[in-house]
Amino acid sequence: LPPFDPSDPLGIDDLLTDEDLAVRDTVRGWAGDRVLPYVAEWYEKGELPGIRELARELGGIGALGMSLTGYGCAGASAVQYGLACLELEAADSGIRSLVSVQGSLAMYAIHRFGSEEQKQTWLPRMAAGEVIGCFGLTEPDHGSDPAGMRTRAKKDGSDWVLDGRKMWITNGSVAGVAVVWARTEDGIRGFVVPTDAPGFSAPEIKHKWSLRASVTSELVLDGVRLPADAVLPEVVGLKGPLSCLSHARYGIVWGAMGAARACFETAVDYAKSREQFGRPIGGFQLTQAKLADMAVELHKGILLAHHLGRRMDAGRLRPEQVSFGKLNNVREAIEICRTARTILGANGISLEYPVMRHATNLESVLTYEGTVEMHQLVLGKALTGLDAFR
Ligand code: FAD
Repeated sequence: LPPFDPSDPLGIDDLLTDEDLAVRDTVRGWAGDRVLPYVAEWYEKGELPGIRELARELGGIGALGMSLTGYGCAGASAVQYGLACLELEAADSGIRSLVSVQGSLAMYAIHRFGSEEQKQTWLPRMAAGEVIGCFGLTEPDHGSDPAGMRTRAKKDGSDWVLDGRKMWITNGSVAGVAVVWARTEDGIRGFVVPTDAPGFSAPEIKHKWSLRASVTSELVLDGVRLPADAVLPEVVGLKGPLSCLSHARYGIVWGAMGAARACFETAVDYAKSREQFGRPIGGFQLTQAKLADMAVELHKGILLAHHLGRRMDAGRLRPEQVSFGKLNNVREAIEICRTARTILGANGISLEYPVMRHATNLESVLTYEGTVEMHQLVLGKALTGLDAFR
């Protein structure tokens, strides 16, 4: 029998190919060099300095639009994309959010629903990290229920004119292009908006106590005039943004386990070295029970992510299954981080350790891309056939 590996107790790595392992090592190495040494400071200051440089570097390692094909994208498998999300979020959820929004929301929308010209114009530069993208769906008064959105796009001759506001938009203030969803006479449509268009502005949202090393913005669209070909031609209706969200949520299923792994590892190390009552706290049964339960949920979550990844690669992943994964993995990840916090005692609240940073980040991850309650309702509907949303 192979020996027991505390970092991989279920032997999940046996499911990975050499190429998968190489992708994981590359992303882990990059995050270890370029994020981990600095992220506590960024977090404390509430900023992500050098975001453009970071984006170019992420483009350089193929992490942007990673599982998309053509247009300079890496064409990686869903499992490889997931592994990348996990490694990035083990550093910080803010970095994984940057990558998710760029690849799974903004680029994915253009790749799946855009015209050939839109793809040629934007995707290669976005894959290289030269242009940062954002995705504007949420509004101040419409979060979980985007169908009620107020942002409007009206025809004026052949042009479109956009008016409205979007809220809580990741990458907004640093984006060169925004994919904005707006109500039209025909239904909800997506628009590719260059952020230098007159009437577009993206003030940054400050005073966040979560995802502090991430740019979050309001988008203001004040009579933004766009040419006829700014609309994404291949989709009408909410299924457009929802399918992008499903792709991004899939990455979160993996990513959340990265934050959990970082906290778990910190807790194990701490429990082995911190002594109270004359012995390491890791030797107390109550601490071991916590660690065992954390390990069980962490590796169950990673196994679930793998399972969903294989289904996505086989073209068999249903949105309800993504909801299953997002609901479970983010909820369990936050629990793991909170338990780690208790094991570290007072040190658990310090930025000297990554635990509180991850735990507070996950509060955002719990809410964005569909709250816990939304995913419960998705599953509840799938299980009963009864729609409880309204
Ligand atoms: P609400 O929809 O007002 O919900 C409040 C509470 O009510 C939640 O607990 C919810 O589950 C519950 N609730 C609502 N309806 C029901 C119901 N029918 N039954 C039971 N409970 C219900 N959005 C984007 O478009 N692009 C982005 O890039 C983006 N980035 C984000 C980054 C951060 C840091 C954050 C915090 C958010 C981001 N969001 C983004 C917005 C995010 O997607 C929304 O916050 C989320 O969809 C929830 O919407 P809301 O905050 O308006 O909450």
